[in-house]
Amino acid sequence: MATVQQELETHQMYIAGQWIGAQSGETYPVVDPATEQAFAIVPKGGLADARRAVDAARKAFDEGPWPHTPATERARLLHEVADKIRGRAGDLALLETRQMGKLLADSLVDVNDAAHTFDYYAGLAVEQHGQTLEVPGESMSMVVREPIGVTVGITPWNFPLLMAAWKVAPSLAAGNVMILKPASVSPLTSLELARIFAEVGLPEGVFQVLTGPGGEVGDFLASSPDIDMVAFTGSVEVGKAIMRAGAANVKKVGLELGGKSPNIVFEDADFEAAIDGALIGIFAGSGEVCSAGSRLLVQRSIYDRFVGELVSRAMAIKVGAPTDEASEMGPLVSRQQLDTTERYVKIGRDEGAVLATGGHRLEGSGYYYEPTIFVDVDNSMRVAQEEIFGPVLAVIPFETEADAIRLANDTIYGLAAGVWTKDVTRALRVIKALRAGITWVNTYHPTYSEAPWGGYKQSGVGRELGTFGLDEYQEVKQINIDLTDKPLGVYQHGKEAPETGKVVSLSDRRPFNEEHESDQWVGYCRNCG
Ligand code: NAP
Repeated sequence: MATVQQELETHQMYIAGQWIGAQSGETYPVVDPATEQAFAIVPKGGLADARRAVDAARKAFDEGPWPHTPATERARLLHEVADKIRGRAGDLALLETRQMGKLLADSLVDVNDAAHTFDYYAGLAVEQHGQTLEVPGESMSMVVREPIGVTVGITPWNFPLLMAAWKVAPSLAAGNVMILKPASVSPLTSLELARIFAEVGLPEGVFQVLTGPGGEVGDFLASSPDIDMVAFTGSVEVGKAIMRAGAANVKKVGLELGGKSPNIVFEDADFEAAIDGALIGIFAGSGEVCSAGSRLLVQRSIYDRFVGELVSRAMAIKVGAPTDEASEMGPLVSRQQLDTTERYVKIGRDEGAVLATGGHRLEGSGYYYEPTIFVDVDNSMRVAQEEIFGPVLAVIPFETEADAIRLANDTIYGLAAGVWTKDVTRALRVIKALRAGITWVNTYHPTYSEAPWGGYKQSGVGRELGTFGLDEYQEVKQINIDLTDKPLGVYQHGKEAPETGKVVSLSDRRPFNEEHESDQWVGYCRNCG
């Protein structure tokens, strides 16, 4: 075992501006899902390491320069990070693919999106402004934005670098500090991000990466009273645990959770475009995409023809090595995810759904699974209600627009939805009726750093990306300024009023700002005789 480990790349965590191993000395392997071979080892961080990271983050926020660094300087550093990500995009994409198995071309898109996210929030950092408000009385009121403090990002394995960027970029742009806890199976590009931050000269403790099991270090971070906010992307189950843990000190919690998103095809849709959109909706990223269109609702009048074409196109998808340019779908991320997919296919069969294609793992090494389609699914079946997070599509027929809306919304989730029709009024009518945070018309999956990302119902709390994503990392403070230099005039009876020279008696009490027609308080009006 020791000889094998010597051949692996050895990585360290980035804590308090230093590259270190776990205090316990423990490590764990990172496995390439295309080969099932370990190729790297990383520290298995524990509670002692998490405590050290929290202390360093607290010090960086409470005593360090970052929260007071001018926005222009913060923006300059974030732009530099974006440039460096782009500069090594090929290496980062390869590392992403090696650790979690997505097609190399898709990893490259993610890496460039991550760079754009840093540029976007660098731009917003210098665009921040507060408000001045019209208020009664001789007063001024204004609102300023401030960072929240020590933030934690906990990320999943399906878009490791991109999900990190969605959290780190707005958090640091707003002047916070962040501890990032990446998913255990895919920590390497997050560690590379730390390397880039170290190169651009970010002050110590402002960005740290802690590798280790979520149930231990993630839970510690979510519960710690020294953490002001946790931004989490992952499963509903863990999201609920984080919400409970965060309640200990009423910390702010942002949750980006799972989905079972409806992709609705009406009879008047462009047939070819809708077929393409249905396939991309579920099989892009091997179905390991939170917003996957995993429930395909097809209008009965075109159902047989649509399903026939869909199934034959799915059968032709080339599953293979993610680094092979000819591959159209790579492996799943882990044996666990492969087992989950297999288990759900059995559940679907047992429930009576018709397996039209797929349903098997591929022979040989690597966690490969066939593109799989269940047809004639009833929306109440578990394969239509529960997130599988694999290449498994549930196709459900519907009769009318009202049926489609009812079926689409009949879920605990509300992350994403798609509508395919040439009728623009119907498209907008249906989109308006859908309870989902991310929606598409005649397309599926394109997303932009500029637009808010997040779900309704159990798909999450709060939003990432766009200006909304920056708001999540900011406190807003109201500042009220008295412009008179006079006492408020409360509890003044028996004293001489400076304005009138008259001794104030209890009978002089009147609405505090009577002259301004405000009756908020009762006191001795400063300006009344
Ligand atoms: P997961 O099992 O919930 O894990 C997500 C992260 O939470 C990992 O870093 C994990 O660490 C950590 N974690 C686990 N238990 C924890 C605990 N008790 N306290 C604190 N942290 C803990 O999710 P996943 O399997 O990585 O990702 C798949 C899920 O993410 C799907 O449900 C998908 O829909 C969702 N997702 C949502 C979005 C969105 O934007 N809405 C985007 C992508 C993915 P370990 O890896 O060490 O266990």
